[in-house]
Amino acid sequence: MSDVKIKKEILRFFYENKNEYVSGEEISASLGFSRASLWKHINKLRLDGYLIEAVPHLGYTLKSTPDKMYAYDISRGLTTDIIGKQKIWHYESLKSTNNRAYELAEKGEPEGTLVVAETQTSGKGRLGRKWISPKSGGIYFSLILRPDMESDKVPVITLVAAVSIQRAIKKICDIDAGIKWPNDILIDEKKVCGILCEIKAQPDMVDFLILGVGINVNTPLKKLPAEATSLKNESSRSVSRRKLMRQILTEIEKDYIKMKKEGFISLREECKKLSTVLNKRITVKEYSSSFEGIAKDIDEKGALIVKKKDGSRKRVFSGDVSIR
Ligand code: ADP
Repeated sequence: MSDVKIKKEILRFFYENKNEYVSGEEISASLGFSRASLWKHINKLRLDGYLIEAVPHLGYTLKSTPDKMYAYDISRGLTTDIIGKQKIWHYESLKSTNNRAYELAEKGEPEGTLVVAETQTSGKGRLGRKWISPKSGGIYFSLILRPDMESDKVPVITLVAAVSIQRAIKKICDIDAGIKWPNDILIDEKKVCGILCEIKAQPDMVDFLILGVGINVNTPLKKLPAEATSLKNESSRSVSRRKLMRQILTEIEKDYIKMKKEGFISLREECKKLSTVLNKRITVKEYSSSFEGIAKDIDEKGALIVKKKDGSRKRVFSGDVSIR
């Protein structure tokens, strides 16, 4: 058994017997370990920050768990088939989870591989912008996907992921967030989550795709840019990062499979309903130029349809949108 699996199995005993003592004999017999080997693994869990008390004749009890995104804690109770079901790479600190996932994908790691970090020192936004990733309380992850799709269809993946994450936030925190085309999730116009898709592609087909996500979960506002908010700030209570992470992976898997089978059309209505820009007067900045208009639609390829002042309609595939 791998270390991750052993830790997960031991923790299962504690979680199934909350506030009770579990005998070392019972755990070791069930896992087929010697008592000495169990002791060794209990100590490894303690080094990870689990407060495990041992009382002679009674056994072990779990007093508290660390607020970490360890692989075995994310995978516990995760019922997906692909997403998050391959290896989960957990790091205390990375420059960027997208960069690490990209390296792993190049080495051939399969679809569904997950990279998670407690903090990023150079978290990435679009166009070389930074995603501020403080240690306290955010979720920063990147997923390796290997969709059999043409490169020009990639923008819809960002929108699909936004729909999945919005739904996970609704289910876990009961907050109604909106999607700001193309890659942000907002609560009352404040940014709570950013998505950054990066691809490696052959001339027309996608080789692999890295879906990167940053979410302000319990992050103190003073550590974030002024235009940001956190889920804790919006719901006035701490949110379990691991629970939210599992829900996000579950929703992404459901929507990703749906999208591959039926296309973006199956999620387009939900995406439009959640959009914060549709029917608003907006300014779109593309490279060096910008124009104004009214956001009218999100089409089947994920492009934003903007009606310009002269009545003409323009399809926008990427750009910075601001509401006027
Ligand atoms: P946008 O989609 O808004 O154009 P990006 O997706 O490129 O922006 O994300 C980077 C921008 O997001 C940064 O320039 C900054 O304004 C903002 N930002 C950076 N870190 C955070 C964060 N943790 N929470 C909310 N907003 C952030």
